[in-house]
Amino acid sequence: MGQIIDGKNISKLIRSEIKDRTAAFTDRYGHEPKLAVILVGEDPASKIYVSNKHKACLQTGIGSIVIEMSEDTEETVLIDKIKELNEDSTVNGILVQLPLPKHLNEKKIIEYIDPRKDVDGLTLANSALLYNGNTDCLAPCTPRGVIEILKKEGIKISGKHAVIVGRSMLVGKPLAMLLLNENATVTVCHSRTEDLGAVTRTADILISAVGRPGLVKAEDVKDGATVIDVGTTRVDGKLRGDVDFDSVFEKDVRITPVPGGVGPMTITMLLMNTLQAAEMQEEER
Ligand code: NAP
Repeated sequence: MGQIIDGKNISKLIRSEIKDRTAAFTDRYGHEPKLAVILVGEDPASKIYVSNKHKACLQTGIGSIVIEMSEDTEETVLIDKIKELNEDSTVNGILVQLPLPKHLNEKKIIEYIDPRKDVDGLTLANSALLYNGNTDCLAPCTPRGVIEILKKEGIKISGKHAVIVGRSMLVGKPLAMLLLNENATVTVCHSRTEDLGAVTRTADILISAVGRPGLVKAEDVKDGATVIDVGTTRVDGKLRGDVDFDSVFEKDVRITPVPGGVGPMTITMLLMNTLQAAEMQEEER
């Protein structure tokens, strides 16, 4: 029988730590850390995510502004807004909510964010720092959340075999770097991996970030493994992970549920990155 890893509870604990650290920051520097989120267009899911980020900031004492721009915003207008926020010393973190409308080049636009304010950790400069083994760079929120879950649960990473399924720039690749920085032995799988089950069965820590419900089944997981399910897919109105939870849970595993596993950690790590960015900027002044 498995053991559930309660991401909601871990997230609550970390948010309470962030709240204390934010209060100490505000006391010391006379202003709160502040996040600016740019939302372009009317995508309903994006609107909900942005609103959740805004609320989470306010609950932890972090200042938050949301800049809404119309669906047909021109690239130069968006870039000018980013430049303005880069120059604004009261803003510590900048996030451009993705996906952007099709006429806007995401990769190009993200590069205009000052890397010191890049709280999504998506600029090339921050990717390079992560690749370089820098342990206090601004790393992407979801992979950072996975590492925090493992640490808070007391799961040993160093020397262990971590298998990641998925190699996106948002999750799989940065997670591989974070795990390497924690001295795991890392294998990254993807859609071309032959005999995926043979690889995942060797994992001490198995992380799936694909977006295919039921991809990971009981026979793909070894006894004693920790299983972190990053996948989220809506099926008949319900959120489902990549892991066939019921069958895997029958084994001797520790496992994150969906929902209530990695999901709550993503915004928590955004708060952490905003606070960290603010602290780094103050230290540089
Ligand atoms: P993505 O960019 O679509 O990447 C998916 C990855 O899965 C790709 O590397 C792809 O391989 C691989 N893949 C696809 N089919 C596969 C298969 N049959 N076997 C093995 N690998 C396969 O997705 P993403 O942005 O990384 O997100 C992954 C999942 O995590 C999604 O469900 C997303 O909703 C979820 N997510 C959740 C959170 C959260 O806060 N909980 C945050 C971010 C993402 P190729 O590279 O070969 O195509």
